[in-house]
Amino acid sequence: MKFYYNRTKIVATMGPASAKKEVLLSMIRAGLNVCRLNFSHGKPEDHKRFVDLIREINSEYKTNVGILADLQGPKIRIGLVKDGGIHLVNGTRINITTHECIGDDSQIYITYETFPQDVQANEIILLDDGKLQLKVIETNRKDTVICEVVHGGILTSRKGVNLPNTKVSIPSLTPEDLENLKYALEWEVDWVGLSFVRTGQDIIDLKRIIRESGKQSRVIAKVEKPEAIENIDDIIAATDAVMIARGDLGVECPLEEVPLLQKMIARKCRDASKPVIVATQMLESMITTPRPTRAEVNDVANSVLDGADAVMLSGETSVGEFPVIVIETMAKIVRNVEDLGYPFNATKAENKDTASANYLSDALCGSAVYLAEHTKAKGIVSMTVSGYTAFEISSYRPEAGTYIFTSNKQLLNALSLVWGVRAFYYDKSDSTDETIADVNAILKEEQLLNAGDVVINTAAVPIVKKGKTNMLKVSVIE
Ligand code: PEP
Repeated sequence: MKFYYNRTKIVATMGPASAKKEVLLSMIRAGLNVCRLNFSHGKPEDHKRFVDLIREINSEYKTNVGILADLQGPKIRIGLVKDGGIHLVNGTRINITTHECIGDDSQIYITYETFPQDVQANEIILLDDGKLQLKVIETNRKDTVICEVVHGGILTSRKGVNLPNTKVSIPSLTPEDLENLKYALEWEVDWVGLSFVRTGQDIIDLKRIIRESGKQSRVIAKVEKPEAIENIDDIIAATDAVMIARGDLGVECPLEEVPLLQKMIARKCRDASKPVIVATQMLESMITTPRPTRAEVNDVANSVLDGADAVMLSGETSVGEFPVIVIETMAKIVRNVEDLGYPFNATKAENKDTASANYLSDALCGSAVYLAEHTKAKGIVSMTVSGYTAFEISSYRPEAGTYIFTSNKQLLNALSLVWGVRAFYYDKSDSTDETIADVNAILKEEQLLNAGDVVINTAAVPIVKKGKTNMLKVSVIE
């Protein structure tokens, strides 16, 4: 059975459209690498069904599809409104209250208890992905905020609220997130996404909870607030990966700034060897039509050129009509750009931090890619337990295939998010020479390498011990 593998990975959100085994299997065969469980929707038992299904496919077809549990974070919403929709008229006033009520044209409920204390006059309130806009006139600092409608329209129940100028005091992990996190950790998901991250500390706090639970799940910081942009260096340093969550980012920041923010974040992530996902509205029109718009095709292609490790689908695969065609389409767009090849990130190799504790292994990984470029090697083959080498080598975007062998089962699926990496389970502990011969033979058997191909092998020797990458070898496949 054929499975397509691109260098740039595809993340797809699960939902009713992708719930059948044969549909999900076809999506995976077409190039899907990571399944996203969106905890903003659905019940834990719905997500668990996907976890079981993905694991069933992984063991049946020897795939390494990863699982991302995406926590909602401090998402603010309005409550129910009269008749399911109310008309907000430009220039009129409306109260926002923290007392639960059915909204009408005089007041609406907000799910944010300390809003009247946190907000200031003249701050902007955006409703329904920014389609409607209010301005704060005054707050009684207790339970009510008086607003003026700047851009009106129909407001329906439970719509999202964005507060681009307000210093929101809600904790990054809400009680609901902590509850959902318990499930995600019990299921040993590969990645946990945290929404509305504001500081590096948010990530440190989440990582502490994961560590204390004894699990290995890695963390994705969803960058979607102006505060996250201000603290981007700290966030990248603290996290394992980043998602450029353009849906909320494009509401909270001026929309026209999103393309350059995307390029800035992608570059910083690559320089820090942290995988970066570009998300939201990539092939949005394919929710209802089998062909994307030209602008969408451009967006996916440009995201690959910007250096994304992965591109993400949301409604297209969770509720869309064409979940398999959309993966095939995205994979084709990605492949077409990848055929251009990737320039070796030489600046990164030259600007290594000599004071870093990882300096020697970082220098070795950079040299492995440099050597692979110069010898026209077909593969860089690395042994790793922590995965550090895989993230580091991938960040140079080598032309050679990146093949990672590991005895760490959870790492196998986590690496499904990382650009260019193909991972294999390997737990033999022979001598260095025997191990290298063995893994090279496995890649030949898998038809990923052929006799006469040059390969670069890296490992931490002695191979039986955990340690930092310290060995580089050039070999030719027999
Ligand atoms: C986004 O805002 O772009 C995003 C991916 O987050 P969510 O889908 O959770 O709103």
